[in-house]
Amino acid sequence: MIASNLNRILKELPAHVTLVAVSKTKPLALLQEAYNCGQRDFGENKAQEILDKFEHLPKDTRWHFIGHLQTNKVRQVIDKVHLIHSMDRESLFVELEKQAGKLNRIVDVLLQFHIAEEETKHGFSWDEAVTFLNCEFYKSASHVRIVGVMGMATFTENLAQVQLEFETLKSYYDTLKQDFFMDSDEFRVISMGMSGDYEIAIACGSNMVRVGSAIFGER
Ligand SMILES: *Cc1c(COP(=O)(O)O)cnc(C)c1O
Repeated sequence: MIASNLNRILKELPAHVTLVAVSKTKPLALLQEAYNCGQRDFGENKAQEILDKFEHLPKDTRWHFIGHLQTNKVRQVIDKVHLIHSMDRESLFVELEKQAGKLNRIVDVLLQFHIAEEETKHGFSWDEAVTFLNCEFYKSASHVRIVGVMGMATFTENLAQVQLEFETLKSYYDTLKQDFFMDSDEFRVISMGMSGDYEIAIACGSNMVRVGSAIFGER
């Protein structure tokens, strides 16, 4: 089941697109099955769930944190995650800088933008992001590295709207690259697209898709 789902999706993905298998709420046996098929990137949205699963999968598994991260959970996950997609506010950045500094390591994050209609979704507005990237704290920080952007489209049947939101995120990425990250080869990730909309996202320039139910079944 998982193998055929993965193969079907991977066949559709251009070579430059990374598939993050979103395994939240799913049992270890299914993650192990995906791992055995060669899948290495897994997405989780709860700190506790990463802690529970982390030690049971092989060490070359790459854990992606994709949910709203509470500042008091940063310390627990920072040495376990490969990439935090959901750097969605300045206070989280401050805590990441502090905890990564204590460990003397660099943590990679994506700047999450609020591109959807729903208020329940998190992320920077364009203006907030520009203000943040110009602030002294950001400029002097050395333990958090922003390697791209992430966004979630509105949950809607209206695919034209979804496309418009993804195009917006792509244009944010392009402008940030020009204005703030010209010299950073690492600033290259555009994380957008889920089970229902990853084809549209890729057409709009995504190079990292976060796919859960199309691999592991409905939650
Ligand atoms: C759950 C989740 C996904 C995956 O959603 P599916 O519709 O199951 O593919 C992707 N991104 C984020 C941020 C999520 O929380």
